[in-house]
Amino acid sequence: MKTIYFDNNATTKVADEVFEEIKPYFCELYGNPSSMHTFGGQVGIKIRTAREKTAALLGCDPSEIIFTGCGTESDNTAINGTLAAYPNKRKIITSCVEHPAVLSVCRELGSHGYTVVELKVDKQGRLDMDMAELEKQIDDNTALVTIMYANNETGVIFPVEKIAELTESRGAVFHTDAVQAIGKIPLNLSKSNIDLLSISGHKLHAPKGVGVLYIKKGTRLSPYMVGGHQEAGKRAGTENVPGIVGLGKACELAAKNIEEESEKVKHLRDKLENAILQQCPDSMLNGDKENRLPNTSNISFEFIEGEAILLMLDKFGICASSGSACTSGSLEPSHVLRAMGVPFTAAHGSIRFSLSRYNTEKEVDYTIEKMPEIVNRLRKLSPFVTK
Ligand code: PLP
Repeated sequence: MKTIYFDNNATTKVADEVFEEIKPYFCELYGNPSSMHTFGGQVGIKIRTAREKTAALLGCDPSEIIFTGCGTESDNTAINGTLAAYPNKRKIITSCVEHPAVLSVCRELGSHGYTVVELKVDKQGRLDMDMAELEKQIDDNTALVTIMYANNETGVIFPVEKIAELTESRGAVFHTDAVQAIGKIPLNLSKSNIDLLSISGHKLHAPKGVGVLYIKKGTRLSPYMVGGHQEAGKRAGTENVPGIVGLGKACELAAKNIEEESEKVKHLRDKLENAILQQCPDSMLNGDKENRLPNTSNISFEFIEGEAILLMLDKFGICASSGSACTSGSLEPSHVLRAMGVPFTAAHGSIRFSLSRYNTEKEVDYTIEKMPEIVNRLRKLSPFVTK
């Protein structure tokens, strides 16, 4: 049975072109890029090329990019590095729907005496605060505003450019977690007020274990990883050369094909979503229908468990993910859906489909055929359905 992979917000397939490009860096070109000899130096040159390709996708200067170990490291560096650079400022503003790579860090800082403001979202997962209110919140004590570019569960895109502009005018640093946005929608940092931006390789068809932190020229940031002089002294540790080279190639591919691929992915996503919403009673879309990543669809099915749907989808070889996380024996609905006020019965039965350029019409048609069957079967077993 062939796997149908609709879980691309969790991770993506390494593109064939990327895999071809990185192969030599394991057993042939294995030198240390910091070595004085030519053997290592030639690897250093490839890192430079990867930096240029990554910068081209982001619309920034290559010197504004540091490679990290993952999106989580980039987020942690941005937050902790900013606070260390501004020791007299003790306030952070974030949103309540951030990925744990940001939210857990902020909440941890909150327990250490920082003031942490979590902006709320409305029923459609959009930021529920006007700019004037936000302006008041960003006071002299505020070191950092960190708001994600697009939400990993619903795909909802946040007005980060506007918030960055406001943050700049109030003299604080603005960071955005763009891990889910990169490669799916065009980003251009050349005329942006964003100071810090995180991305992760494995969400855009590069390998796992590599990330990027964009640091706008002139932004004060203390290094988080301390040791050697790699990455211009901003991130110590011998570089993950295959990961970095792969990320460079993935960025090159994304820059070339982003518009065409986003359109194709959106068409497939919409076809899947519309058919499911039409054919499965008591189902509803979670998140802003319009202002959303082209690949993400989060749908709730009343009265059934998301996990049960996932298991049945899995039997048909279809991979998706649910909005609940099984923690300490109890099924907790996702913090994102809860913040949006999705009813408990619906939040428990939510499924996220996240597509990529490798999905096909045939896969979508097959899933459309199976979903009503799965939902009907589970509803018949549900103790909540009395109809
Ligand atoms: N931020 C967002 C929005 C994510 O979706 C993820 C991963 O799912 C991360 C950060 C963490 O990235 P990584 O897995 O590279 O640490």
